[in-house]
Amino acid sequence: MKEYCGLFGIYGHKDASMLTYLGLYALQHRGEESCGIVSSSGKRIYQHKAMGTVSDVFDASTLKRLRGHLSIGHVRYSTTGSSTLKNAQPFLINYKRGAIAIAHNGNLTNSLELKDKLEMDGSIIQTSMDSELILHLLVKAKARDIKESLVDILPQIKGAYSLLVLTNDMLIGVRDPYGFRPLCIGKLGNSYVLASETCALDLIGAEYVRDVEPGEIVSISKNGLESTKPFNVSSRAFCIFEFIYFSRPDSNIFTKNVYLTRKRLGEALALEHPVEADFIMPIPDSGTYAALGFSEKSNIPIEMGMIRNHYIGRTFIQPSQNRRDFNVRIKLNPIKDLLRGKRVIIIEDSIVRGTTSKIRVKALREAGAKEVHMRVSCPPLISPCYYGIDFPTSKELIAARHTTEEIRQFIGVDSLKYLSVERMLGAMLLPKESFCTACFTKNYPESVNKCLNKNSLEVGKNKCRNGKG
Ligand code: SF4
Repeated sequence: MKEYCGLFGIYGHKDASMLTYLGLYALQHRGEESCGIVSSSGKRIYQHKAMGTVSDVFDASTLKRLRGHLSIGHVRYSTTGSSTLKNAQPFLINYKRGAIAIAHNGNLTNSLELKDKLEMDGSIIQTSMDSELILHLLVKAKARDIKESLVDILPQIKGAYSLLVLTNDMLIGVRDPYGFRPLCIGKLGNSYVLASETCALDLIGAEYVRDVEPGEIVSISKNGLESTKPFNVSSRAFCIFEFIYFSRPDSNIFTKNVYLTRKRLGEALALEHPVEADFIMPIPDSGTYAALGFSEKSNIPIEMGMIRNHYIGRTFIQPSQNRRDFNVRIKLNPIKDLLRGKRVIIIEDSIVRGTTSKIRVKALREAGAKEVHMRVSCPPLISPCYYGIDFPTSKELIAARHTTEEIRQFIGVDSLKYLSVERMLGAMLLPKESFCTACFTKNYPESVNKCLNKNSLEVGKNKCRNGKG
C-alpha cells in the first residue's frame, strides 16, 4: 500500500525552493514516483517537475532557477497507468487573475459528478487527477480574490483534501472539514511553513506552531497568517492508518507522535493476545515500534531474526525460483543460528494480501524456527480506502474474503491474532471519535462513489457512474 502524496510550502524565505526541496526529501515516503516545486518571486512564477524521487528530479542548477521567496512542493505516488508527467503536481495555470498553482493530498469522492458538471460548462480536463478539478472550480469562481473563491468552491468538493495553493504573493493551506489528511504549520524565523508531517519541519530547523484545523483555510502573505473557517465542522475523521503505517515515526500528525502511538498499539496487542515465545521479531522497519511495545508489556525479549539488505536496486539476475519469493528474500535474510529450534512472535503492522507474510514465514521455518506466531497491530483490513490511500480492491484484501483461521493456514503460522478495533482506538492518544476507521469497519464517514478508480477520474472496472452499479 502506498500513500498518494506529501505537501510542503514556505512563505517569506530567500531560499524558499531549496527549503522546499529539503521538506520534500523528508516526505519522500509519501510518494516516490513524481515530484515538483513551483516558486514565486512576487512577479514571476517558476516551476520544475518530473518523474522520479526528489534527489533524482532536483539538483543545484534546477533549484537555482526556482527563484523567489515563496514556494510549494509535492511528492506523488500513483497506480500504474496514471503515472505520467502530466499528472505530476503542483498543477500550475495562468488565467485572467494571474498564476495559480495547487498541490493536493487526498482523494475527492465526488469527482465524477464534478468532472461531468465542469465539462458541461466547457472546461477541458487535461489529466486524470481529481486535483485538477479544484483548479477548474477556482478559475470559474466569481469571487473577488482567491480566498473568497476557495470559500465559494470548497463546499462543492467531497472527500479528503489537504491542499496548498500558491499565487504570485500568497501561500494558502486548506484541510477538508473531516481532516482526513494531516497538514501542519511551522515557523522558521519570520517565514511560515506548511507541511504534511512535522519531520519536514525538523529537517529544516522550523518550529511546529499548530495544525491547520479541519475545515480551516490559512492564508499567508505580507500581512502574516490569516485564518478562515467557512465550514460547519461536525465530526472529524483523521486517517488512523497514518498512525499505523504511513507517517514517519519521528513525525507528529494530528498533534500526536507516531512512534509513541505505534508503541502503544504494540502494548495493547500484548495485553489482548498474549502468547509464550522465546523472542519477538519485528519485521523491519514496519513492525518495529509495535514490537517494542509488545516486548515491554509481555517481558519477552526482542531479537532481529531477519536482516534487511539496505542496498536494493534492480537486479537483472534472478534465480529460477518464484520471482516474488526471490524479491522478499533479497530484502530480508533470516539468521539461522538465532532461529533454530526457537518459538518466535512476528509483529506485523498490517496484512494486505498475505502473500509477503507467507513467504517470510516459510523462510523462518526453513531457517529452523520451531513455532511461528503472528500478531498484527491493527484489525483485519476488510474494505478499500476512498480517501487517498492506494488500497487493493476488496477482492485482493485477504481479510475481506477469509476468516482469521483461513488466513492463519494460508500464511502458515501456528497462531494469528489481530488487534481489535476497540483496543486500537483505545491505544490512540486522541478521542476515538476523531478517527476514520472505514478500512477496518466499513463505516465510511461520508458517502463515497465506490465506482471510482481511487484518486483518478477513470471509472472503475465495473464501469458504473454516479454510484450506480
Ligand atoms: Fe485511512 Fe482507512 Fe479511512 Fe482510508 S479508509 S482514510 S486508510 S482509515
